[in-house]
Amino acid sequence: MAVKEIELIIPPRNPHFVGDGFRVQNFIPSAYGLDMQRMSPFIMLDYNAPFHFPATDSPRGVGVHPHRGFETVTLAYQGSVAHHDSGGNQGIIGPGGVQWMTAASGVLHKEYHEAEFAKKGGMFQMVQLWVNLPAAYKMSPPKYQGFSEKDIPTVHLEGAMGHIKVVAGNYQGTQGAADTFTEVHLYNVHLNNQGKASFSFPAQQNTAILVLSGSINIASHEENIAENHVVLFQNKGESFEISANQATDLLVLSGSPINEPIAAQGPFVMNTQAEIAQAIRDFHTGGFGVLKD
Ligand code: MN
Repeated sequence: MAVKEIELIIPPRNPHFVGDGFRVQNFIPSAYGLDMQRMSPFIMLDYNAPFHFPATDSPRGVGVHPHRGFETVTLAYQGSVAHHDSGGNQGIIGPGGVQWMTAASGVLHKEYHEAEFAKKGGMFQMVQLWVNLPAAYKMSPPKYQGFSEKDIPTVHLEGAMGHIKVVAGNYQGTQGAADTFTEVHLYNVHLNNQGKASFSFPAQQNTAILVLSGSINIASHEENIAENHVVLFQNKGESFEISANQATDLLVLSGSPINEPIAAQGPFVMNTQAEIAQAIRDFHTGGFGVLKD
């Protein structure tokens, strides 16, 4: 198999707040040509790097808002988040947990720091990733999958080099926790100091790594790649090896592109402008159900 080379290394972004509870760096879609098509099926990636929130009696977060046409995936590393949606689903995820919400035809939801975490305050670290749906599934029923850390299958790397938590897709035959509509591989990777791991994805998949903490080297690239950087790979070659220069955590993502037009406006991601207009009409006429603030 040919080596998959690096196309681009994206440095840390200026953080901004989403609501009052998520202080994020936006990597997708953003500068550097990392738009929704280039990274399809991954159409948005916001990273809340470790940030201390002081104690409060009124949890911070984002109030009731709609989504249609895709999935929101929240990966918690520090702190915890509570989710409620108009489909009647709710869940709390803490460190190592993942919530995979399929908005599809539409939900209202709200995302807040979990009450006990908010009351004490503390370090908060989280990723929110949006995974697009093909036209055939954009209007299918909403769905919710919640996983705690222990629900996510773990591959222990040989020689105590670290481990790989398979959130979705598969890693060397170990199947991930989440059901997906298209081929999506999503791993939380921990490498010990001097740990190594190999990865292989088809050339046409869009593949990237977010360095959550620590630093890595990748095959032919000579410089260390530090935390808060995203590595984008070329769409040729399949395999690459990562080695860690210290204890390191990574989010590895790879997926088959959905080769369809994208029309996106705020919380709605569809194929055409007419479908966006319909989503806005449906939202304003109560078509997304009911959820109390
Ligand atoms: Mn949301």
